[in-house]
Amino acid sequence: MFDEDAVRASKAIGLTLTQRATGLPMAGVPYHQLDTYLRKLLAAGFRVAICDQVQDPAHAKGLVERAVTRVCTPGTLVEETLLEEGRPQGLGAVAFLEGAGGTGVEPGATAAVAVVDLSTGGFTAFWCTPSALGDELARRAVREVLYAGTGNDEPPARLTAALARAGMGGLAAAPTAQPAWHFRLSEAREALCQQFGVSTLAGFGFGDEDALAIPAGVIVRYLRATQAPAETQAGEGAPAIAGAIRMGSARSRTLGHLRPPRKEESGAWLTLDAAALRALEVETTMRGGTGTEGSLLGLFMATGSGEGRGGCKTAMGRRLVREWLCRPSRRMEEIRGRHRAVAALVSDRRMAGEVGAALGGVQDVARIGARVALGRASPRDVVALGASLSKREAVAAALLGVSSLSGHRARLEALHESLGPLAGRIMSACVEAAPAHLREGGLVKDGFDAALDEARLLERDAGSWLARYQKQLIDEHELPNLKVGYNKIFGYFIELPKGQSGRAPAVFSRRQTLTNAERYITPELRTFEEKVSRARERAIEREQLIFDELCRAAEGCLGALWAYSEALGEVDALLCFADRAAQRRWCEPEMVEEPELAIVQGRHPVLEELLGDRFVPNDSMLGTGEAAGLALITGPNMAGKSTFIRQTALLVLLAHAGSFVPAASARIGLCDRIFTRVGADDALHAGQSTFMVEMTETAGILHHATGRSLVVLDEIGRGTSTLDGLSLAWSIAETLAGGAGASGGEKGPRTLFATHYHELTRLEELLPGAVANLHVAVREWTGEGGQSEIVFLHRIVPGRTDRSYGIHVARLAGLPPATVARARAILETLSVEHGAVGVSGAQGAGGNGGSIAAGAGRVKSARDEGQLALFREFVPHPAVDALREVKIEALSPMEAFDQLRRLKGMADG
Ligand code: ADP
Repeated sequence: MFDEDAVRASKAIGLTLTQRATGLPMAGVPYHQLDTYLRKLLAAGFRVAICDQVQDPAHAKGLVERAVTRVCTPGTLVEETLLEEGRPQGLGAVAFLEGAGGTGVEPGATAAVAVVDLSTGGFTAFWCTPSALGDELARRAVREVLYAGTGNDEPPARLTAALARAGMGGLAAAPTAQPAWHFRLSEAREALCQQFGVSTLAGFGFGDEDALAIPAGVIVRYLRATQAPAETQAGEGAPAIAGAIRMGSARSRTLGHLRPPRKEESGAWLTLDAAALRALEVETTMRGGTGTEGSLLGLFMATGSGEGRGGCKTAMGRRLVREWLCRPSRRMEEIRGRHRAVAALVSDRRMAGEVGAALGGVQDVARIGARVALGRASPRDVVALGASLSKREAVAAALLGVSSLSGHRARLEALHESLGPLAGRIMSACVEAAPAHLREGGLVKDGFDAALDEARLLERDAGSWLARYQKQLIDEHELPNLKVGYNKIFGYFIELPKGQSGRAPAVFSRRQTLTNAERYITPELRTFEEKVSRARERAIEREQLIFDELCRAAEGCLGALWAYSEALGEVDALLCFADRAAQRRWCEPEMVEEPELAIVQGRHPVLEELLGDRFVPNDSMLGTGEAAGLALITGPNMAGKSTFIRQTALLVLLAHAGSFVPAASARIGLCDRIFTRVGADDALHAGQSTFMVEMTETAGILHHATGRSLVVLDEIGRGTSTLDGLSLAWSIAETLAGGAGASGGEKGPRTLFATHYHELTRLEELLPGAVANLHVAVREWTGEGGQSEIVFLHRIVPGRTDRSYGIHVARLAGLPPATVARARAILETLSVEHGAVGVSGAQGAGGNGGSIAAGAGRVKSARDEGQLALFREFVPHPAVDALREVKIEALSPMEAFDQLRRLKGMADG
């Protein structure tokens, strides 16, 4: 790096800044540690252009020609060391539609989006609504987003906002401007046609005016520019020497592994937005951290292959499990197909064990294929490929006789013809323990190539030649202490101890002086040295040639490699589901079209892992048989409300992903979307008030939930005053129970509503059949010293609870005894004051204790007024009852006047 680049980069990643005589600042890194520094530079937000010699120095007149051979950006990495194994890596492009956007635009969509994973070649395009944009990019692990530049350096506000909403602001998904003309339909189509060698895109499902081609074409252009800059594209002019940073040599960079963009129809997936993925801790936990530990995904990611450890055997399987969990299916046939396969693997454990063993040594074929296509495969990649492909027959054989996996077996068998010879060739050519690079050779087996063997022979024989030569010199010159040796830096030498150096014959010319010895060279030794070094060069060249040939052979099979990695990934993911199911006795869910939910003895998949038998199973019934569509769950803090509602959502998610579920039985109606509104998420949205976030998310739910959705709400209305909160919670529950969302009039979504507002439990009577009360059982007794004690049973039972035990929980949490005692006293006062309006006494001490701190007096007036106002509606005034009883037909005018006076009197109290 030179000049300003050097100054900035050295500051950002702590390199030493030096300069030449010219005063031009320079900074650099050792080439063999490129990956380490690349990672640092990318993490610091830089893009890195790599320049390399593109001419053999032997042929150069003057300066060796150099060119940019690659541009590294956050979304286009393929090196094993720079990628997370179990996660895809997305590069996205977003084309915002301004008015007429071509044909096929989905209703409500305003952006055409394409995402590629360069490290595997997977390529998709889809329509997106403004609200879903960030979520969709996050779900696909997009690290870099291309947008149409407008001249100023700023990405469009709607893009930045969408990314921020999905928690992908800043460097998490770097926005990259591209020339606006790349976003013209004609330009995009041309790029795609050129890349895929077609004259029309119709075969890929893109009509002539289909604007989805725009972002896909933008991506293709970007990849060609960064991965295969014009000067170095395949063919002539390709780098001519084995440059230092390339692990192999000059190989084509056709992007041949890129598959044509697949158009995704919306409606094929159970939608989970970023908030739901976070709240349900699908990929990571809410406690933060980036690992999967403690998350749903973490359950399936256990590494180490010990019996019963579960976890995927291959990287492809790990990525697929992640994809299935983050984007479960909504297609009945697909889901049932996965369940059938899992069932087969659960019931035949011996067969499952064989499949697992066969998958054991399979490496990341998908990513190796990508590196082959980008001319960046290493000798180790090629050997790993050969070994992985050799597993083909073993996997197919292990699947024999399992009808639900016969499709996979057939797919594997169909690949024998193309992959068999490739695997054979690699295995016969290469040693098992391949070197990381070819600088010193060592990849090709002896006996594979005659020319290579010959070249190697000379070097190998050097030892005996040297011994002979040494003996000859000793005898000839009578120098018994003379030694002939070799070291890497100085090459071959003849060594004499200092004391004997005076006796060195004239043919010895001095090469190096050591403390106790002198080293010499002779013309004969020099000739030998040159011969050996030429032979070594020849050997390495030969190995390079063979390696290139193997890479070309692999490149010819990219389609088959992809098919292979896809089939194996699926088998691995299904096996992973099956292992978990067998190990923890999960059951096969029955999937139905009707929007029902009947889970018997369900368990929380992650907590079950921690608590084992201490976990208390619970039933969830929604919209099925007698069960209401909305369950209202009350109970003290820490009783297990959140656990219960999340567990229900997780089971629904798992079933749609194709997994079995932790329950005794489960009947699950297909879902279009799981909505969550869970409190602890708020901290993630810096800059918006907690309450605002809560209400924004709730608004989204009320607008979009349909009769096919599952809604999970935890503690709605917490972020505002008790009365506001209660009123909002009440009306939100009513709306959801009555289906008054966007679907209007239709049945409401299946809803689990956990709340500490006991008042809401009255909804069961007011909306019979639509709302059911559940509460978490608590055992209460009087302990020593007359204090009441409680124990949480974590059992969900029908009916309401009328106490929140907040003070108990506070005591368990270690609040100072005096504070607890004072709280009890305040609670008692409040309870007495509220006895008259029938508000449960403990309420004031429940979760929302904020206003108590302001003093009991203020609490009282606010509560009285508000609660009365609220319940006037539901606790009819005596005057109303009296009015009802009046029989107008039987009244004389005078009697009517008397009645009126009486009612007025009652109303005035
Ligand atoms: P709440 O939402 O009612 O405040 P949580 O759902 O957060 O309570 O549960 C609190 C704790 O209780 C959990 O961390 C867990 O350890 C335990 N717990 C919850 N449900 C169960 C259960 N079904 N079986 C055993 N322990 C449970």
